Amino acid sequence: MSQRRLFVTTALPYANGNFHIGHIMEYIQADIWVRFQRMQGHAVNFVGADDAHGAPIMIAAEKAGKTPQQFVADIAAGRKPYLDGFHISFDNWHSTDAPENHQLAQQIYRDLKKAGLISTKTIEQFFDVEKNMFLPDRFIKGQCPKCGAKDQYGDNCEVCGAVYAPTDLINPYSALSGATPVLKSSEHFFFRLSDPRCVEFLEQWTQDGKLQPEVANKVKEWFSVRDNADGTQSEGLGDWDISRDAPYFGIEIPDAPGKYFYVWLDAPVGYLASLKNLLGKRGEDYEAYMADPALEQYHFIGKDIVTFHTLFWPAMLHFSGRKTPDNVFVHGFLTVNNGEKMSKSRGTGLDPLKYLSLGMNPEWLRYYLAAKLNARNEDIDFNADDFMARVNSDLVGKYVNIASRAAGFIAKRFAGRLGEISADGDALLSVLRAQSDTITQLYEFREFAKALREVMLLADRVNAYVDQNKPWELAKQAGMDGRLHDVCTVCIEAFRLLSIYLKPVLPALGAEVENFLKTGPLGFADAAAGLGNGHIIGDYKHLLQRVDIKQLEALFEPPVQETPAPSAIESIVPGGEEIAPVITIDDFSKIDLRIAKIVNCEAVEGSTKLLRLTLDVGEASLRNVFSGIASSYQPQDLIGKHTVMVANLAPRKMKFGISEGMVLAASHANEKAEPGIFVLEPLPGAQPGMRVR
Ligand SMILES: [Zn+2]
Repeated sequence: MSQRRLFVTTALPYANGNFHIGHIMEYIQADIWVRFQRMQGHAVNFVGADDAHGAPIMIAAEKAGKTPQQFVADIAAGRKPYLDGFHISFDNWHSTDAPENHQLAQQIYRDLKKAGLISTKTIEQFFDVEKNMFLPDRFIKGQCPKCGAKDQYGDNCEVCGAVYAPTDLINPYSALSGATPVLKSSEHFFFRLSDPRCVEFLEQWTQDGKLQPEVANKVKEWFSVRDNADGTQSEGLGDWDISRDAPYFGIEIPDAPGKYFYVWLDAPVGYLASLKNLLGKRGEDYEAYMADPALEQYHFIGKDIVTFHTLFWPAMLHFSGRKTPDNVFVHGFLTVNNGEKMSKSRGTGLDPLKYLSLGMNPEWLRYYLAAKLNARNEDIDFNADDFMARVNSDLVGKYVNIASRAAGFIAKRFAGRLGEISADGDALLSVLRAQSDTITQLYEFREFAKALREVMLLADRVNAYVDQNKPWELAKQAGMDGRLHDVCTVCIEAFRLLSIYLKPVLPALGAEVENFLKTGPLGFADAAAGLGNGHIIGDYKHLLQRVDIKQLEALFEPPVQETPAPSAIESIVPGGEEIAPVITIDDFSKIDLRIAKIVNCEAVEGSTKLLRLTLDVGEASLRNVFSGIASSYQPQDLIGKHTVMVANLAPRKMKFGISEGMVLAASHANEKAEPGIFVLEPLPGAQPGMRVR
C-alpha cells in the first residue's frame, strides 16, 4: 500500500474555559483514527488550536481584569494536562490569534474579494452607548415578543423557543451595562454565499456522497427555497455577515479601518495556521505541502457546527483558490449518566481532570468511548455502571487475562523463550489474522464500536482455547511440557495480535505490551507474521487494573460549594430563594446554636420592625438580642418560650443598643409575604444552654 498524506484536525475549542468531557471525547475519537492511520504507515499531521477571538472573550477578559491576549494565554496554559493525560497525540497546538492566522485570514479575504464574492451593506444594530460598542445578540436581553417572558436573549426565547431578531425584543437592555440600547447603523461586510457560483459549488460539494448521509440530508434543506408552515418563505442560502465593528478582539479586515472579521470567519482558518506553524518549526514548506494533490484533509467536529464546516468553510477555501476538505466527520454529543448535554458552552458531570486526579486510567475512558462510537452523528451516553462492566469484563477479564494466564509459565518453565506451535494453535492464530482486514476497514470508517466488538469476539475464542487446554493442569502433568509450551506460545502470539488491533485505542498499554514482548513498535503490518519459535519475551507485570466502584463514586460526588445548575432550579425555588452553596460539616460546626429561654420581650421605641429579647442561654448573665420579628409577634406572645439562637455571632452595635446574638426564625425570602415570620421553638424538655447540632 502506498503511503497516504493526511492533515487532520479537531474543532477549535473556544478559549473562554477549560476543556470539558465533550472536548475530550472528540479528541479521543480523532486520536484513535490518527493513531490507526500512523500504524498503517501513513504520514499524518494532526493539529489543534485555541479559538481565541470574539466578543465573549473580550468581555470575559475585561471582567477578569486582563487583556484578551493574556486571558487566552492563561487558558492555553491549562491545555497540556488534559491532552497529555488522555494520550491525545496532536503534533501541534496553536492559537487563532497567532500571526499565521492573521496573515492567512486576511489573504483568504483578499482572494474572495478578488473573486467578487464580498459585498457591503449598511445594517441597523443595537448599540450600547455606555460601553460604546455594538452588542452581540447574546448580550441584548429583554421581553420575548411572542410569550412575554422576561430576561430573554436577543436571538431566541428559552421559555417558548421563539426565534427572532434582537430588534423584536420588548424593552431591550444591554446585558453589559443595563442601558437601553439604541439602534445605530453601520456598514457590514458579507460573503456572498447566495451567488449562483457558491450555490452550485456547495450543492455539488455537500451532495457528492462524501458526507455522512444524515449530515448531507440536513445540509440539503438549507439550499431549498420553500414555503414554511408559518407562511414565511425560506430563501435558501443567504449572504453571510463576516464583519464586526470595533471594539472587537479579532483580526482587522484589510483596507477597512475599525472593522474586524467575525470570529467564525477566522476560526477554521486556524486549522491552516496551526499546520503552517508546525511545518515552519520543522523547516517544511507550507505552500508545497498544501499543493500536493494527494494530500487528504479531514476535520472532526460536533454536530452543532455543521453549517460552518460544510457551507462557509469549503466555500471560503474553494473560492480563494485553496484545497477543500476531503471530508468533515461529524459526531454527536456526549451525555453523562443520561444527564446534561455536553455542548460547547456547557459542561459538567464528568470532570476530565478530576478523573485523572483520582488515578483513573485514561485508557479505560478511551476504550469505553471507542466501544460506543460509530460513524454516525449519534449522541452517546457515559454510564458509570456500563463503564465499569465493560472495562472490567472486556479489557481486564478477556484481553489482559490471556497474557497473565500464559506469561508465568513461559518465564518459569521455558526461560522466557517461545516454542513451537502445533496445528490447532496455528488454526486459531489464522482466524485472528484473517480478521485484520475487517478490523482495518472498521477503523478506517470510524466504526470503532464494531472494531472493538470484533476484537473481543477474537479474545473470546482465545479464552475458549485456554479453557480447553488448561495450561495450569498441563503444568502439573508429567511429560506434558511440550504441550504446555505450545499452548502458552499460542496465547502470547494471540495476545500480541489482539494488542495490535487495540493499539489505536490503547496506545500506552500497547507500548507496555511491546516492552513486555520485546518487540519494536507494532503496526498493522506486524499482524501477518508471529514472533516465532525462540523469541524471548520479558517479565510479565500486571498490565491493567480493574475499575473500582469507589473511584466512580468519587468521580461523580458533587464538588464542594457547587451552586445548582440553572436548569435544575428554574421551576422549583423553595421559599422564594435558591438553596445556598453546599458547605462541609466543619463549616456548619462553626456556628454555635444554643437553646435560649426568652425571659423578657419588649417593643423597641422608634422601631416598627424590632423586638428586644432578653435571653437566658445558661450563662452567668443574660443576653440582649434585637430581632426583626415585630411584624409577626406581640412581646407577650414570646415571654417564657424557648427558642434557638446563634450564640457565637459577633456582637453588633445597633441604633438601639448592642445585639449579642441572633434568634432563629423562618420566613419566605420576602418577609412581608404571607404567612409571615416564625420564631423557632424546640420540642418540650430542651434546657437553656443546650447546644443544637
Ligand atoms: Zn417566549
